[in-house]
Formats: sequence, C-alpha cells, structure tokens
Amino acid sequence: MGRRVRPGGRFFFLFPALRSDTLNASRKLKSLALMAAATASFGLHAQAFPDGKPITIVVPFAAGGPTDRVARDLAEAMRKPLDGVSIVIDNAAGAGSTIGNAKVARAKPDGYTLLVTHVGMATTPVLYRKLTYNYETDFEYLGMINDVPMTLIGKPQLEANNFKELREWISKAGGKVNLGNAGIGSASHLCGLLFQSELKAEMTTVPYKGTAPAIADLMGGQIDLLCDQTTNTTSQIEAKKVKAYGVTTLKRLSTPALKDIPTLDESGLKNFQVTIWHGLYAPKGTPAPVLKKLNDALKVALKDPEFIKKQEGLGAVVVADKRVEPAEHKKFVQSEVARFGPVIKAAGVYAD
Ligand code: ASP
Repeated sequence: MGRRVRPGGRFFFLFPALRSDTLNASRKLKSLALMAAATASFGLHAQAFPDGKPITIVVPFAAGGPTDRVARDLAEAMRKPLDGVSIVIDNAAGAGSTIGNAKVARAKPDGYTLLVTHVGMATTPVLYRKLTYNYETDFEYLGMINDVPMTLIGKPQLEANNFKELREWISKAGGKVNLGNAGIGSASHLCGLLFQSELKAEMTTVPYKGTAPAIADLMGGQIDLLCDQTTNTTSQIEAKKVKAYGVTTLKRLSTPALKDIPTLDESGLKNFQVTIWHGLYAPKGTPAPVLKKLNDALKVALKDPEFIKKQEGLGAVVVADKRVEPAEHKKFVQSEVARFGPVIKAAGVYAD
C-alpha cells in the first residue's frame, strides 16, 4: 500500500528540527505581515474617520421630545469638528429607552452608530431584569452632555392655578388623575413615581414612546399631568399651552421663561429634587482612535457658544466638568445605578 506523501513532506520528515523551525519562521512572518496589514488598515481607518459616510445617532425616545432635542442640537455642534460629516437621528423609541439602547449595543462598532440617552442608562438596568445588553460591558462611554431639571406641568384646562390648588384637586379626584410618562425607566416615570409617593396619591400612569407625544396629549387635555425635562416644556410654558406647577430643583431656575416657577420644595414637597443628564455612547469595540475623535468632537461641541446658548435657553446646563472624560462618564453612570438601585428595589417596581 503506497503512502501518501504531502509535497515536501519527506523533506520535513527527514529534518524535523528544520521542519518546525521553518514552520515557526514562516508562521512568524505570516503573522507579522498580517499585523502590519492590520495596523496599516486600522491606521488608515482611524485617519479616515469620518470618511464621508453619515453618522447615525440613535435616540431611544420619540422625535420632537427632549432627548431628541438634545441629540439634534449636539449633532449640529459636532458636525464641524468632524469635518462637516452628516449626522442623522434615528428615533428607535419604546420600552423606556431599552429598544434603542439594545440597537446600539448590537451595532457595528465603527463609530458610525452612536447613542444619545439620558438617566435611563442607569435606571433601566435596575428596572428591567431581562435586558439584552449590559450597560457596563456593551458600550463605550464617550462623555456626558448636560444636566437638565424637570418641571411638573398640567393640561391647560386644569382649574388649579398653583401647586396648592393642584394638591387639593388631586386629593378630590381620588385615583382618577392621568399622569403621562415615557415608559418604565424614563425620567418622567421616575419623577412621577417620586411625586406620587410624596403626595401619597395613586394616579393612573399613561406610557408613551417619549414625552413629545405625551405633551401633545397633555395640551389636548387627554392626560392631566406630566413631569418632563425643561428642554421639552420651556417653550410650551412660555406660550401658556400648559400650566406649570413647579420645578424639581432646590433653587429656582434662572432661565427667563422659568424663573418665576416655584420649586416643589418651597411648595411643601421637602427636598423634592430630580435632575437628569444625557450622555453619548458607542458600541463596545469601537476602535480607540475613532473614540478619541468622537470625544474630541464632543468636547468642542460642549464649548460651542451656540450650543450652550440653546441649552441654557431651555433650562439645561452643559457639562463642563471631568464627566466629559469617558472614564469619568462611566464612573458617574455606575454611581447613578448604585443610587437608584436600592430605591427602585425597595419600591418593587419592575418592568418585567
Ligand atoms: N422626557 C422623556 C423621559 O421622560 C424622554 C424623551 O422623550 O426624550 O424620559
């Protein structure tokens, strides 16, 4: 029976040492060549980013709402430092932001898909026990954007003209008060939970895909109350399309349209304080040079006078501290999870 001999096999058989050395050397050469090719293409890739292809920012809430607003303003301010690239917004709304977050966690990590979301990044890991993503390991943290206070607002038809009258109206209405929110884990949901617990009143909560549709229903009188970011409520308060009953900070706000609204604290809800924040994220595994370019562009945007003016006009404060650094951003979100975790667990409110 003839033995099958691989080409060159005998040669290697006769000189086993030479065989393994030669193999090792050729393997080493091959891997060196591969490494060089990878480095070259990686370098090129990073240098070329953005290469003219549009960047998509996923917003996990409805278009026209406060998170959407922040993302659109930020996109505008980040374009210039990113060589004028187009940035499109993808509203992947629903389930208190978890649908959009999951979409970005699974996206190609090349810098062309990003996420702008708010405090939900820290509340949903506690509120949803079956998330398909991990907030710590599935994202690259790119830096924080702003801190935003909230306002308690009511439908224009409400007879109550101040917080005292609102309290009386709520207690007379029994459980028949409809309170809108943007789904479990949203800022409006958190604020609403806190409000009900402070008042010891149970309300009927009405979830939406974001507070843009919620505020539209509030103005139309389909729901009674909403707690929402000033970035969504300022212009409606100014236009008197909704009634403002309080701000959720301990000090009154300085934004002209909001400065006369009492704090809920001064109206009797002692220490009632809800300030939320937004941050920028990329899928885990996005190359470091791309992350650096994005973080640099974010830092430029956060110093852009036009961006700052827009945000301040809506009651928001643009981040100007160490939380613009990715590591500090991540630390901050982890500390927020630690802060909300026990409160949510004690309340026993879970989405699933
Ligand atoms: N304001 C919403 C919330 O309550 C989010 C949004 O619609 O942007 O979390």
